[in-house]
Amino acid sequence: MNIPYGKQSIDRTDLEAVERVLTSDFMTQGPEIARFEEAFNQRMGAPYSIAVSNGTAALHLAVLALGLKPNQRVITSPITFAASANCVAYAGGVAEFCDIDPATYLIDLQKLEEMLKVKPHGYYAGIIPVDFGGLSVNLERVRALADQYGCWVLEDACHAPGATFTDSKGNQITAGDCTYSDAAIFSFHPVKHIACGEGGMITTSSKEVNQSLQVLRTHGITKDSNLMTENHGGWYYEMIELGYNYRLTDMQAALGLTQLAKLDWSLEQRNRIARKYDELFKKLGWPHQLTPGGCFHAYHLYVIQHPKRKELYDYLREHGVFAQVHYIPVHLLPYYQDLGWKKGDCPNAERYYDQCLSLPMYPTLTDEEFNYVSNLLISFDKQ
Ligand SMILES: *Cc1c(COP(=O)(O)O)cnc(C)c1O
Repeated sequence: MNIPYGKQSIDRTDLEAVERVLTSDFMTQGPEIARFEEAFNQRMGAPYSIAVSNGTAALHLAVLALGLKPNQRVITSPITFAASANCVAYAGGVAEFCDIDPATYLIDLQKLEEMLKVKPHGYYAGIIPVDFGGLSVNLERVRALADQYGCWVLEDACHAPGATFTDSKGNQITAGDCTYSDAAIFSFHPVKHIACGEGGMITTSSKEVNQSLQVLRTHGITKDSNLMTENHGGWYYEMIELGYNYRLTDMQAALGLTQLAKLDWSLEQRNRIARKYDELFKKLGWPHQLTPGGCFHAYHLYVIQHPKRKELYDYLREHGVFAQVHYIPVHLLPYYQDLGWKKGDCPNAERYYDQCLSLPMYPTLTDEEFNYVSNLLISFDKQ
């Protein structure tokens, strides 16, 4: 047996899509990008989607387009991939960490309010809530705090395409639809739901942010006569700000389209597997991520907690099951410790890290594989 914690699902339709692009005229900057963006708008419900080269590039461009300036502070969760915080440093800003809720593993909104209210209005420029594991943060509540304290909201929805929560009006809010956020970002790394090899997407409801992102992803260059100061003819372009080459290729966009078409199947399978895990851990009495009422979980990860996490990790590994730890708290990574963060700053996140383990969770996990993993967990429990 060799069972990873996550893996991509690629079928014939994916292969054919990539082959079609490879034998067409455009490998990049072709028609697949706009098609993928349009399909993404349709599925996620955001007015604008901007495809970029990876999720980290999406974060970097999003904070720039939202206006992050050097030395401004942005709050995020310590239980996330480092990129959620690193993007702030790319723009010269300062990432700060707000502790998590020990039951949902998401940023604790009570603690977030406490952080915000002891500082003057505008002290923090933005908030980057993370839909950890595939569970949506309650962005309606984040938005209310952000408006009160003068912050923008950038949802890191890398784990949560298709996840929803229910707002106070009873509406189902889809991750990345930008009802309550200024922008959201996704990753198409193969461990995520939509696998493009590398790839990312920014969604926004703001026309201005969209326009800024279009320019930033391709060197700060525009051919839009409304944005240019002069126009010398058909060849003419202007570089109006310092941008990057963060473009997605057409091969990746074509793959993104066929992968997106399978998202609902993937979510269904992941939820089916999660129900089986739920049942097992009810019997074993092991804690796992709590899903609040009204939420549809996207299950990028299925995370449990165990006091003998290291022994459990090693035991599974010896038997060919490659569970993983998500994540080492970002504030304790040496780079952030050098900036002054230390043990004790986010005690819930640190306690969580001591016990957390992500179990195999991917749509093609077979019943046989699930039973194999489940039997290992039962025998570990008996030891
Ligand atoms: C994967 C991930 C990213 C970064 O995406 P890449 O495509 O790998 O650059 C950012 N945030 C979170 C929460 C992620 O899981």
